[in-house]
Amino acid sequence: MKSQEIRQKFLSFFEERKHLIVPSAPIVLKNDPTLMFNNSGMAQFKEYFLGNATPKSKRIADTQKCLRVSGKHNDLEEVGIDTYHHTMFEMLGNWSFGDYFKKEAINWAWELLTEVYKIPKNILYVTVFEGSKEENVPFDQEAYDIWKELIGEDRILLGNKKDNFWEMGDQGPCGPCSEIHVDIRSEEEKAEIPGRDLVNADHPQVVEIWNNVFMEFNRKADGSLEKLPAQHVDTGMGFERLCMVLQGVQSNYDTDVFTPLIAKVSQLTGAKYTVKANNEEEEKVNIAVRVVIDHVRAVAFAIADGQLPSNNGAGYVIRRILRRAIRYAFTFLDKKEPFIYELVEVLSEQMGDFFPEITAQKDLVKNVIKEEEASFLRTLEQGLHLLDNVIDETQGKVVSGTKAFELYDTFGFPIDLTALILRERGLELDEKGFEDAMAEQKNRSRVASEVSTDDWTILVGGNVETFVGYDQLENEVKITRYRKI
Ligand code: ATP
Ligand code: MG
Ligand code: MG
Ligand code: MG
Repeated sequence: MKSQEIRQKFLSFFEERKHLIVPSAPIVLKNDPTLMFNNSGMAQFKEYFLGNATPKSKRIADTQKCLRVSGKHNDLEEVGIDTYHHTMFEMLGNWSFGDYFKKEAINWAWELLTEVYKIPKNILYVTVFEGSKEENVPFDQEAYDIWKELIGEDRILLGNKKDNFWEMGDQGPCGPCSEIHVDIRSEEEKAEIPGRDLVNADHPQVVEIWNNVFMEFNRKADGSLEKLPAQHVDTGMGFERLCMVLQGVQSNYDTDVFTPLIAKVSQLTGAKYTVKANNEEEEKVNIAVRVVIDHVRAVAFAIADGQLPSNNGAGYVIRRILRRAIRYAFTFLDKKEPFIYELVEVLSEQMGDFFPEITAQKDLVKNVIKEEEASFLRTLEQGLHLLDNVIDETQGKVVSGTKAFELYDTFGFPIDLTALILRERGLELDEKGFEDAMAEQKNRSRVASEVSTDDWTILVGGNVETFVGYDQLENEVKITRYRKI
């Protein structure tokens, strides 16, 4: 089944069940000081759950463009390394705003997966919230009993608060959730380790595909829970993961969502993408290809939705994502000229039917990406030149961390690239010196390092956290910095 058809089947299924189908909200949020990018399907419906607005319909379904690169949901570090976390992905979702609840939601999810998409029952597992005494939240008996009739008890796992209880923030709507996982390993592998042991264990072929959240409580300021007057359903299914299952492949990147992009990268760079890498060199190329084709989607859709790369806020996040792609291509695909912009054509051909903004803004998107590529490649070339000077001045094997920091801080030359080049030349980086210089600079700029842990930051007395950028060490890029204003 082609990805277009998979998406359409989801929407039609819920349309037939009286859901209003709405377009995806933009990937970049302009009016929400607490969230920079849409990171889940429900973000655009937040006000409905809070009771501040009334939905057009009590049942809604859509596919939402999501970006998970900051705050609580930051998958950037995984992207390209694993085969099922993207920066930008589509989240298919259905919602009930005070209408249907667990029985319908679970039964429909099951019907869609096993009867419409015909996923064999024996590769599915589900999780149910086990309850928490100290939080005074009960075991989700209701969901358990519904699932028991459908999937059988041996395929139900109990999950803790971290995986199976959703909260909007410190206060507000919350409730248990039930996740659906697939096990697409070969029969031999399954015989060795049972699938249940691998659920939520970061196995690339035992992955979560669909989360069903049942909002039934309200958390009050004193921390206690009360029943919500109306109960809601919020679900999210990873579209690319679903395509992986239905197309019988082992990685999101082997679905038709990504293969045309891989073909284009190969044509433009000569890189050979292998479904299963045989050695470290092949794996490096694979990772670089995945990084490039993942990141171009995030950047292209962000620009199409009005967010240009820049030096602060959301624009800076977009610039960093693109630069990560350029750097991987520069280092591992040996590509020293702009080429990522040429992938926009493929994206537009492939996704333009469903997301017309990518075609409408195609020229702008291409030009912006090309310019960014050209300018960052100049920085890289210049950095290489300066690094050569530093190496020339170095006596012995260890290169000064302060000098490396200068390159990084003043010229934006990525530190892991410095480390890589030094290694290739048989030299070492004084990492401690680098870290000290970094810590000193952090002190100077008095940036409070804080990671947002909720889906939304609750605003207290006008104390808003604004994103000021990634810590630039790629390996630590998941750490976002916030400044209280
Ligand atoms: P995971 O545990 O795999 O990181 P999650 O629990 O963080 O997923 P949810 O917040 O429950 O994900 O989002 C709903 C669905 O969206 C998931 O079941 C998954 O299919 C999909 N999804 C989540 N994060 C990503 C991502 N980075 N790339 C692609 N799909 C994703
Ligand atoms: Mg996650
Ligand atoms: Mg999960
Ligand atoms: Mg989940």
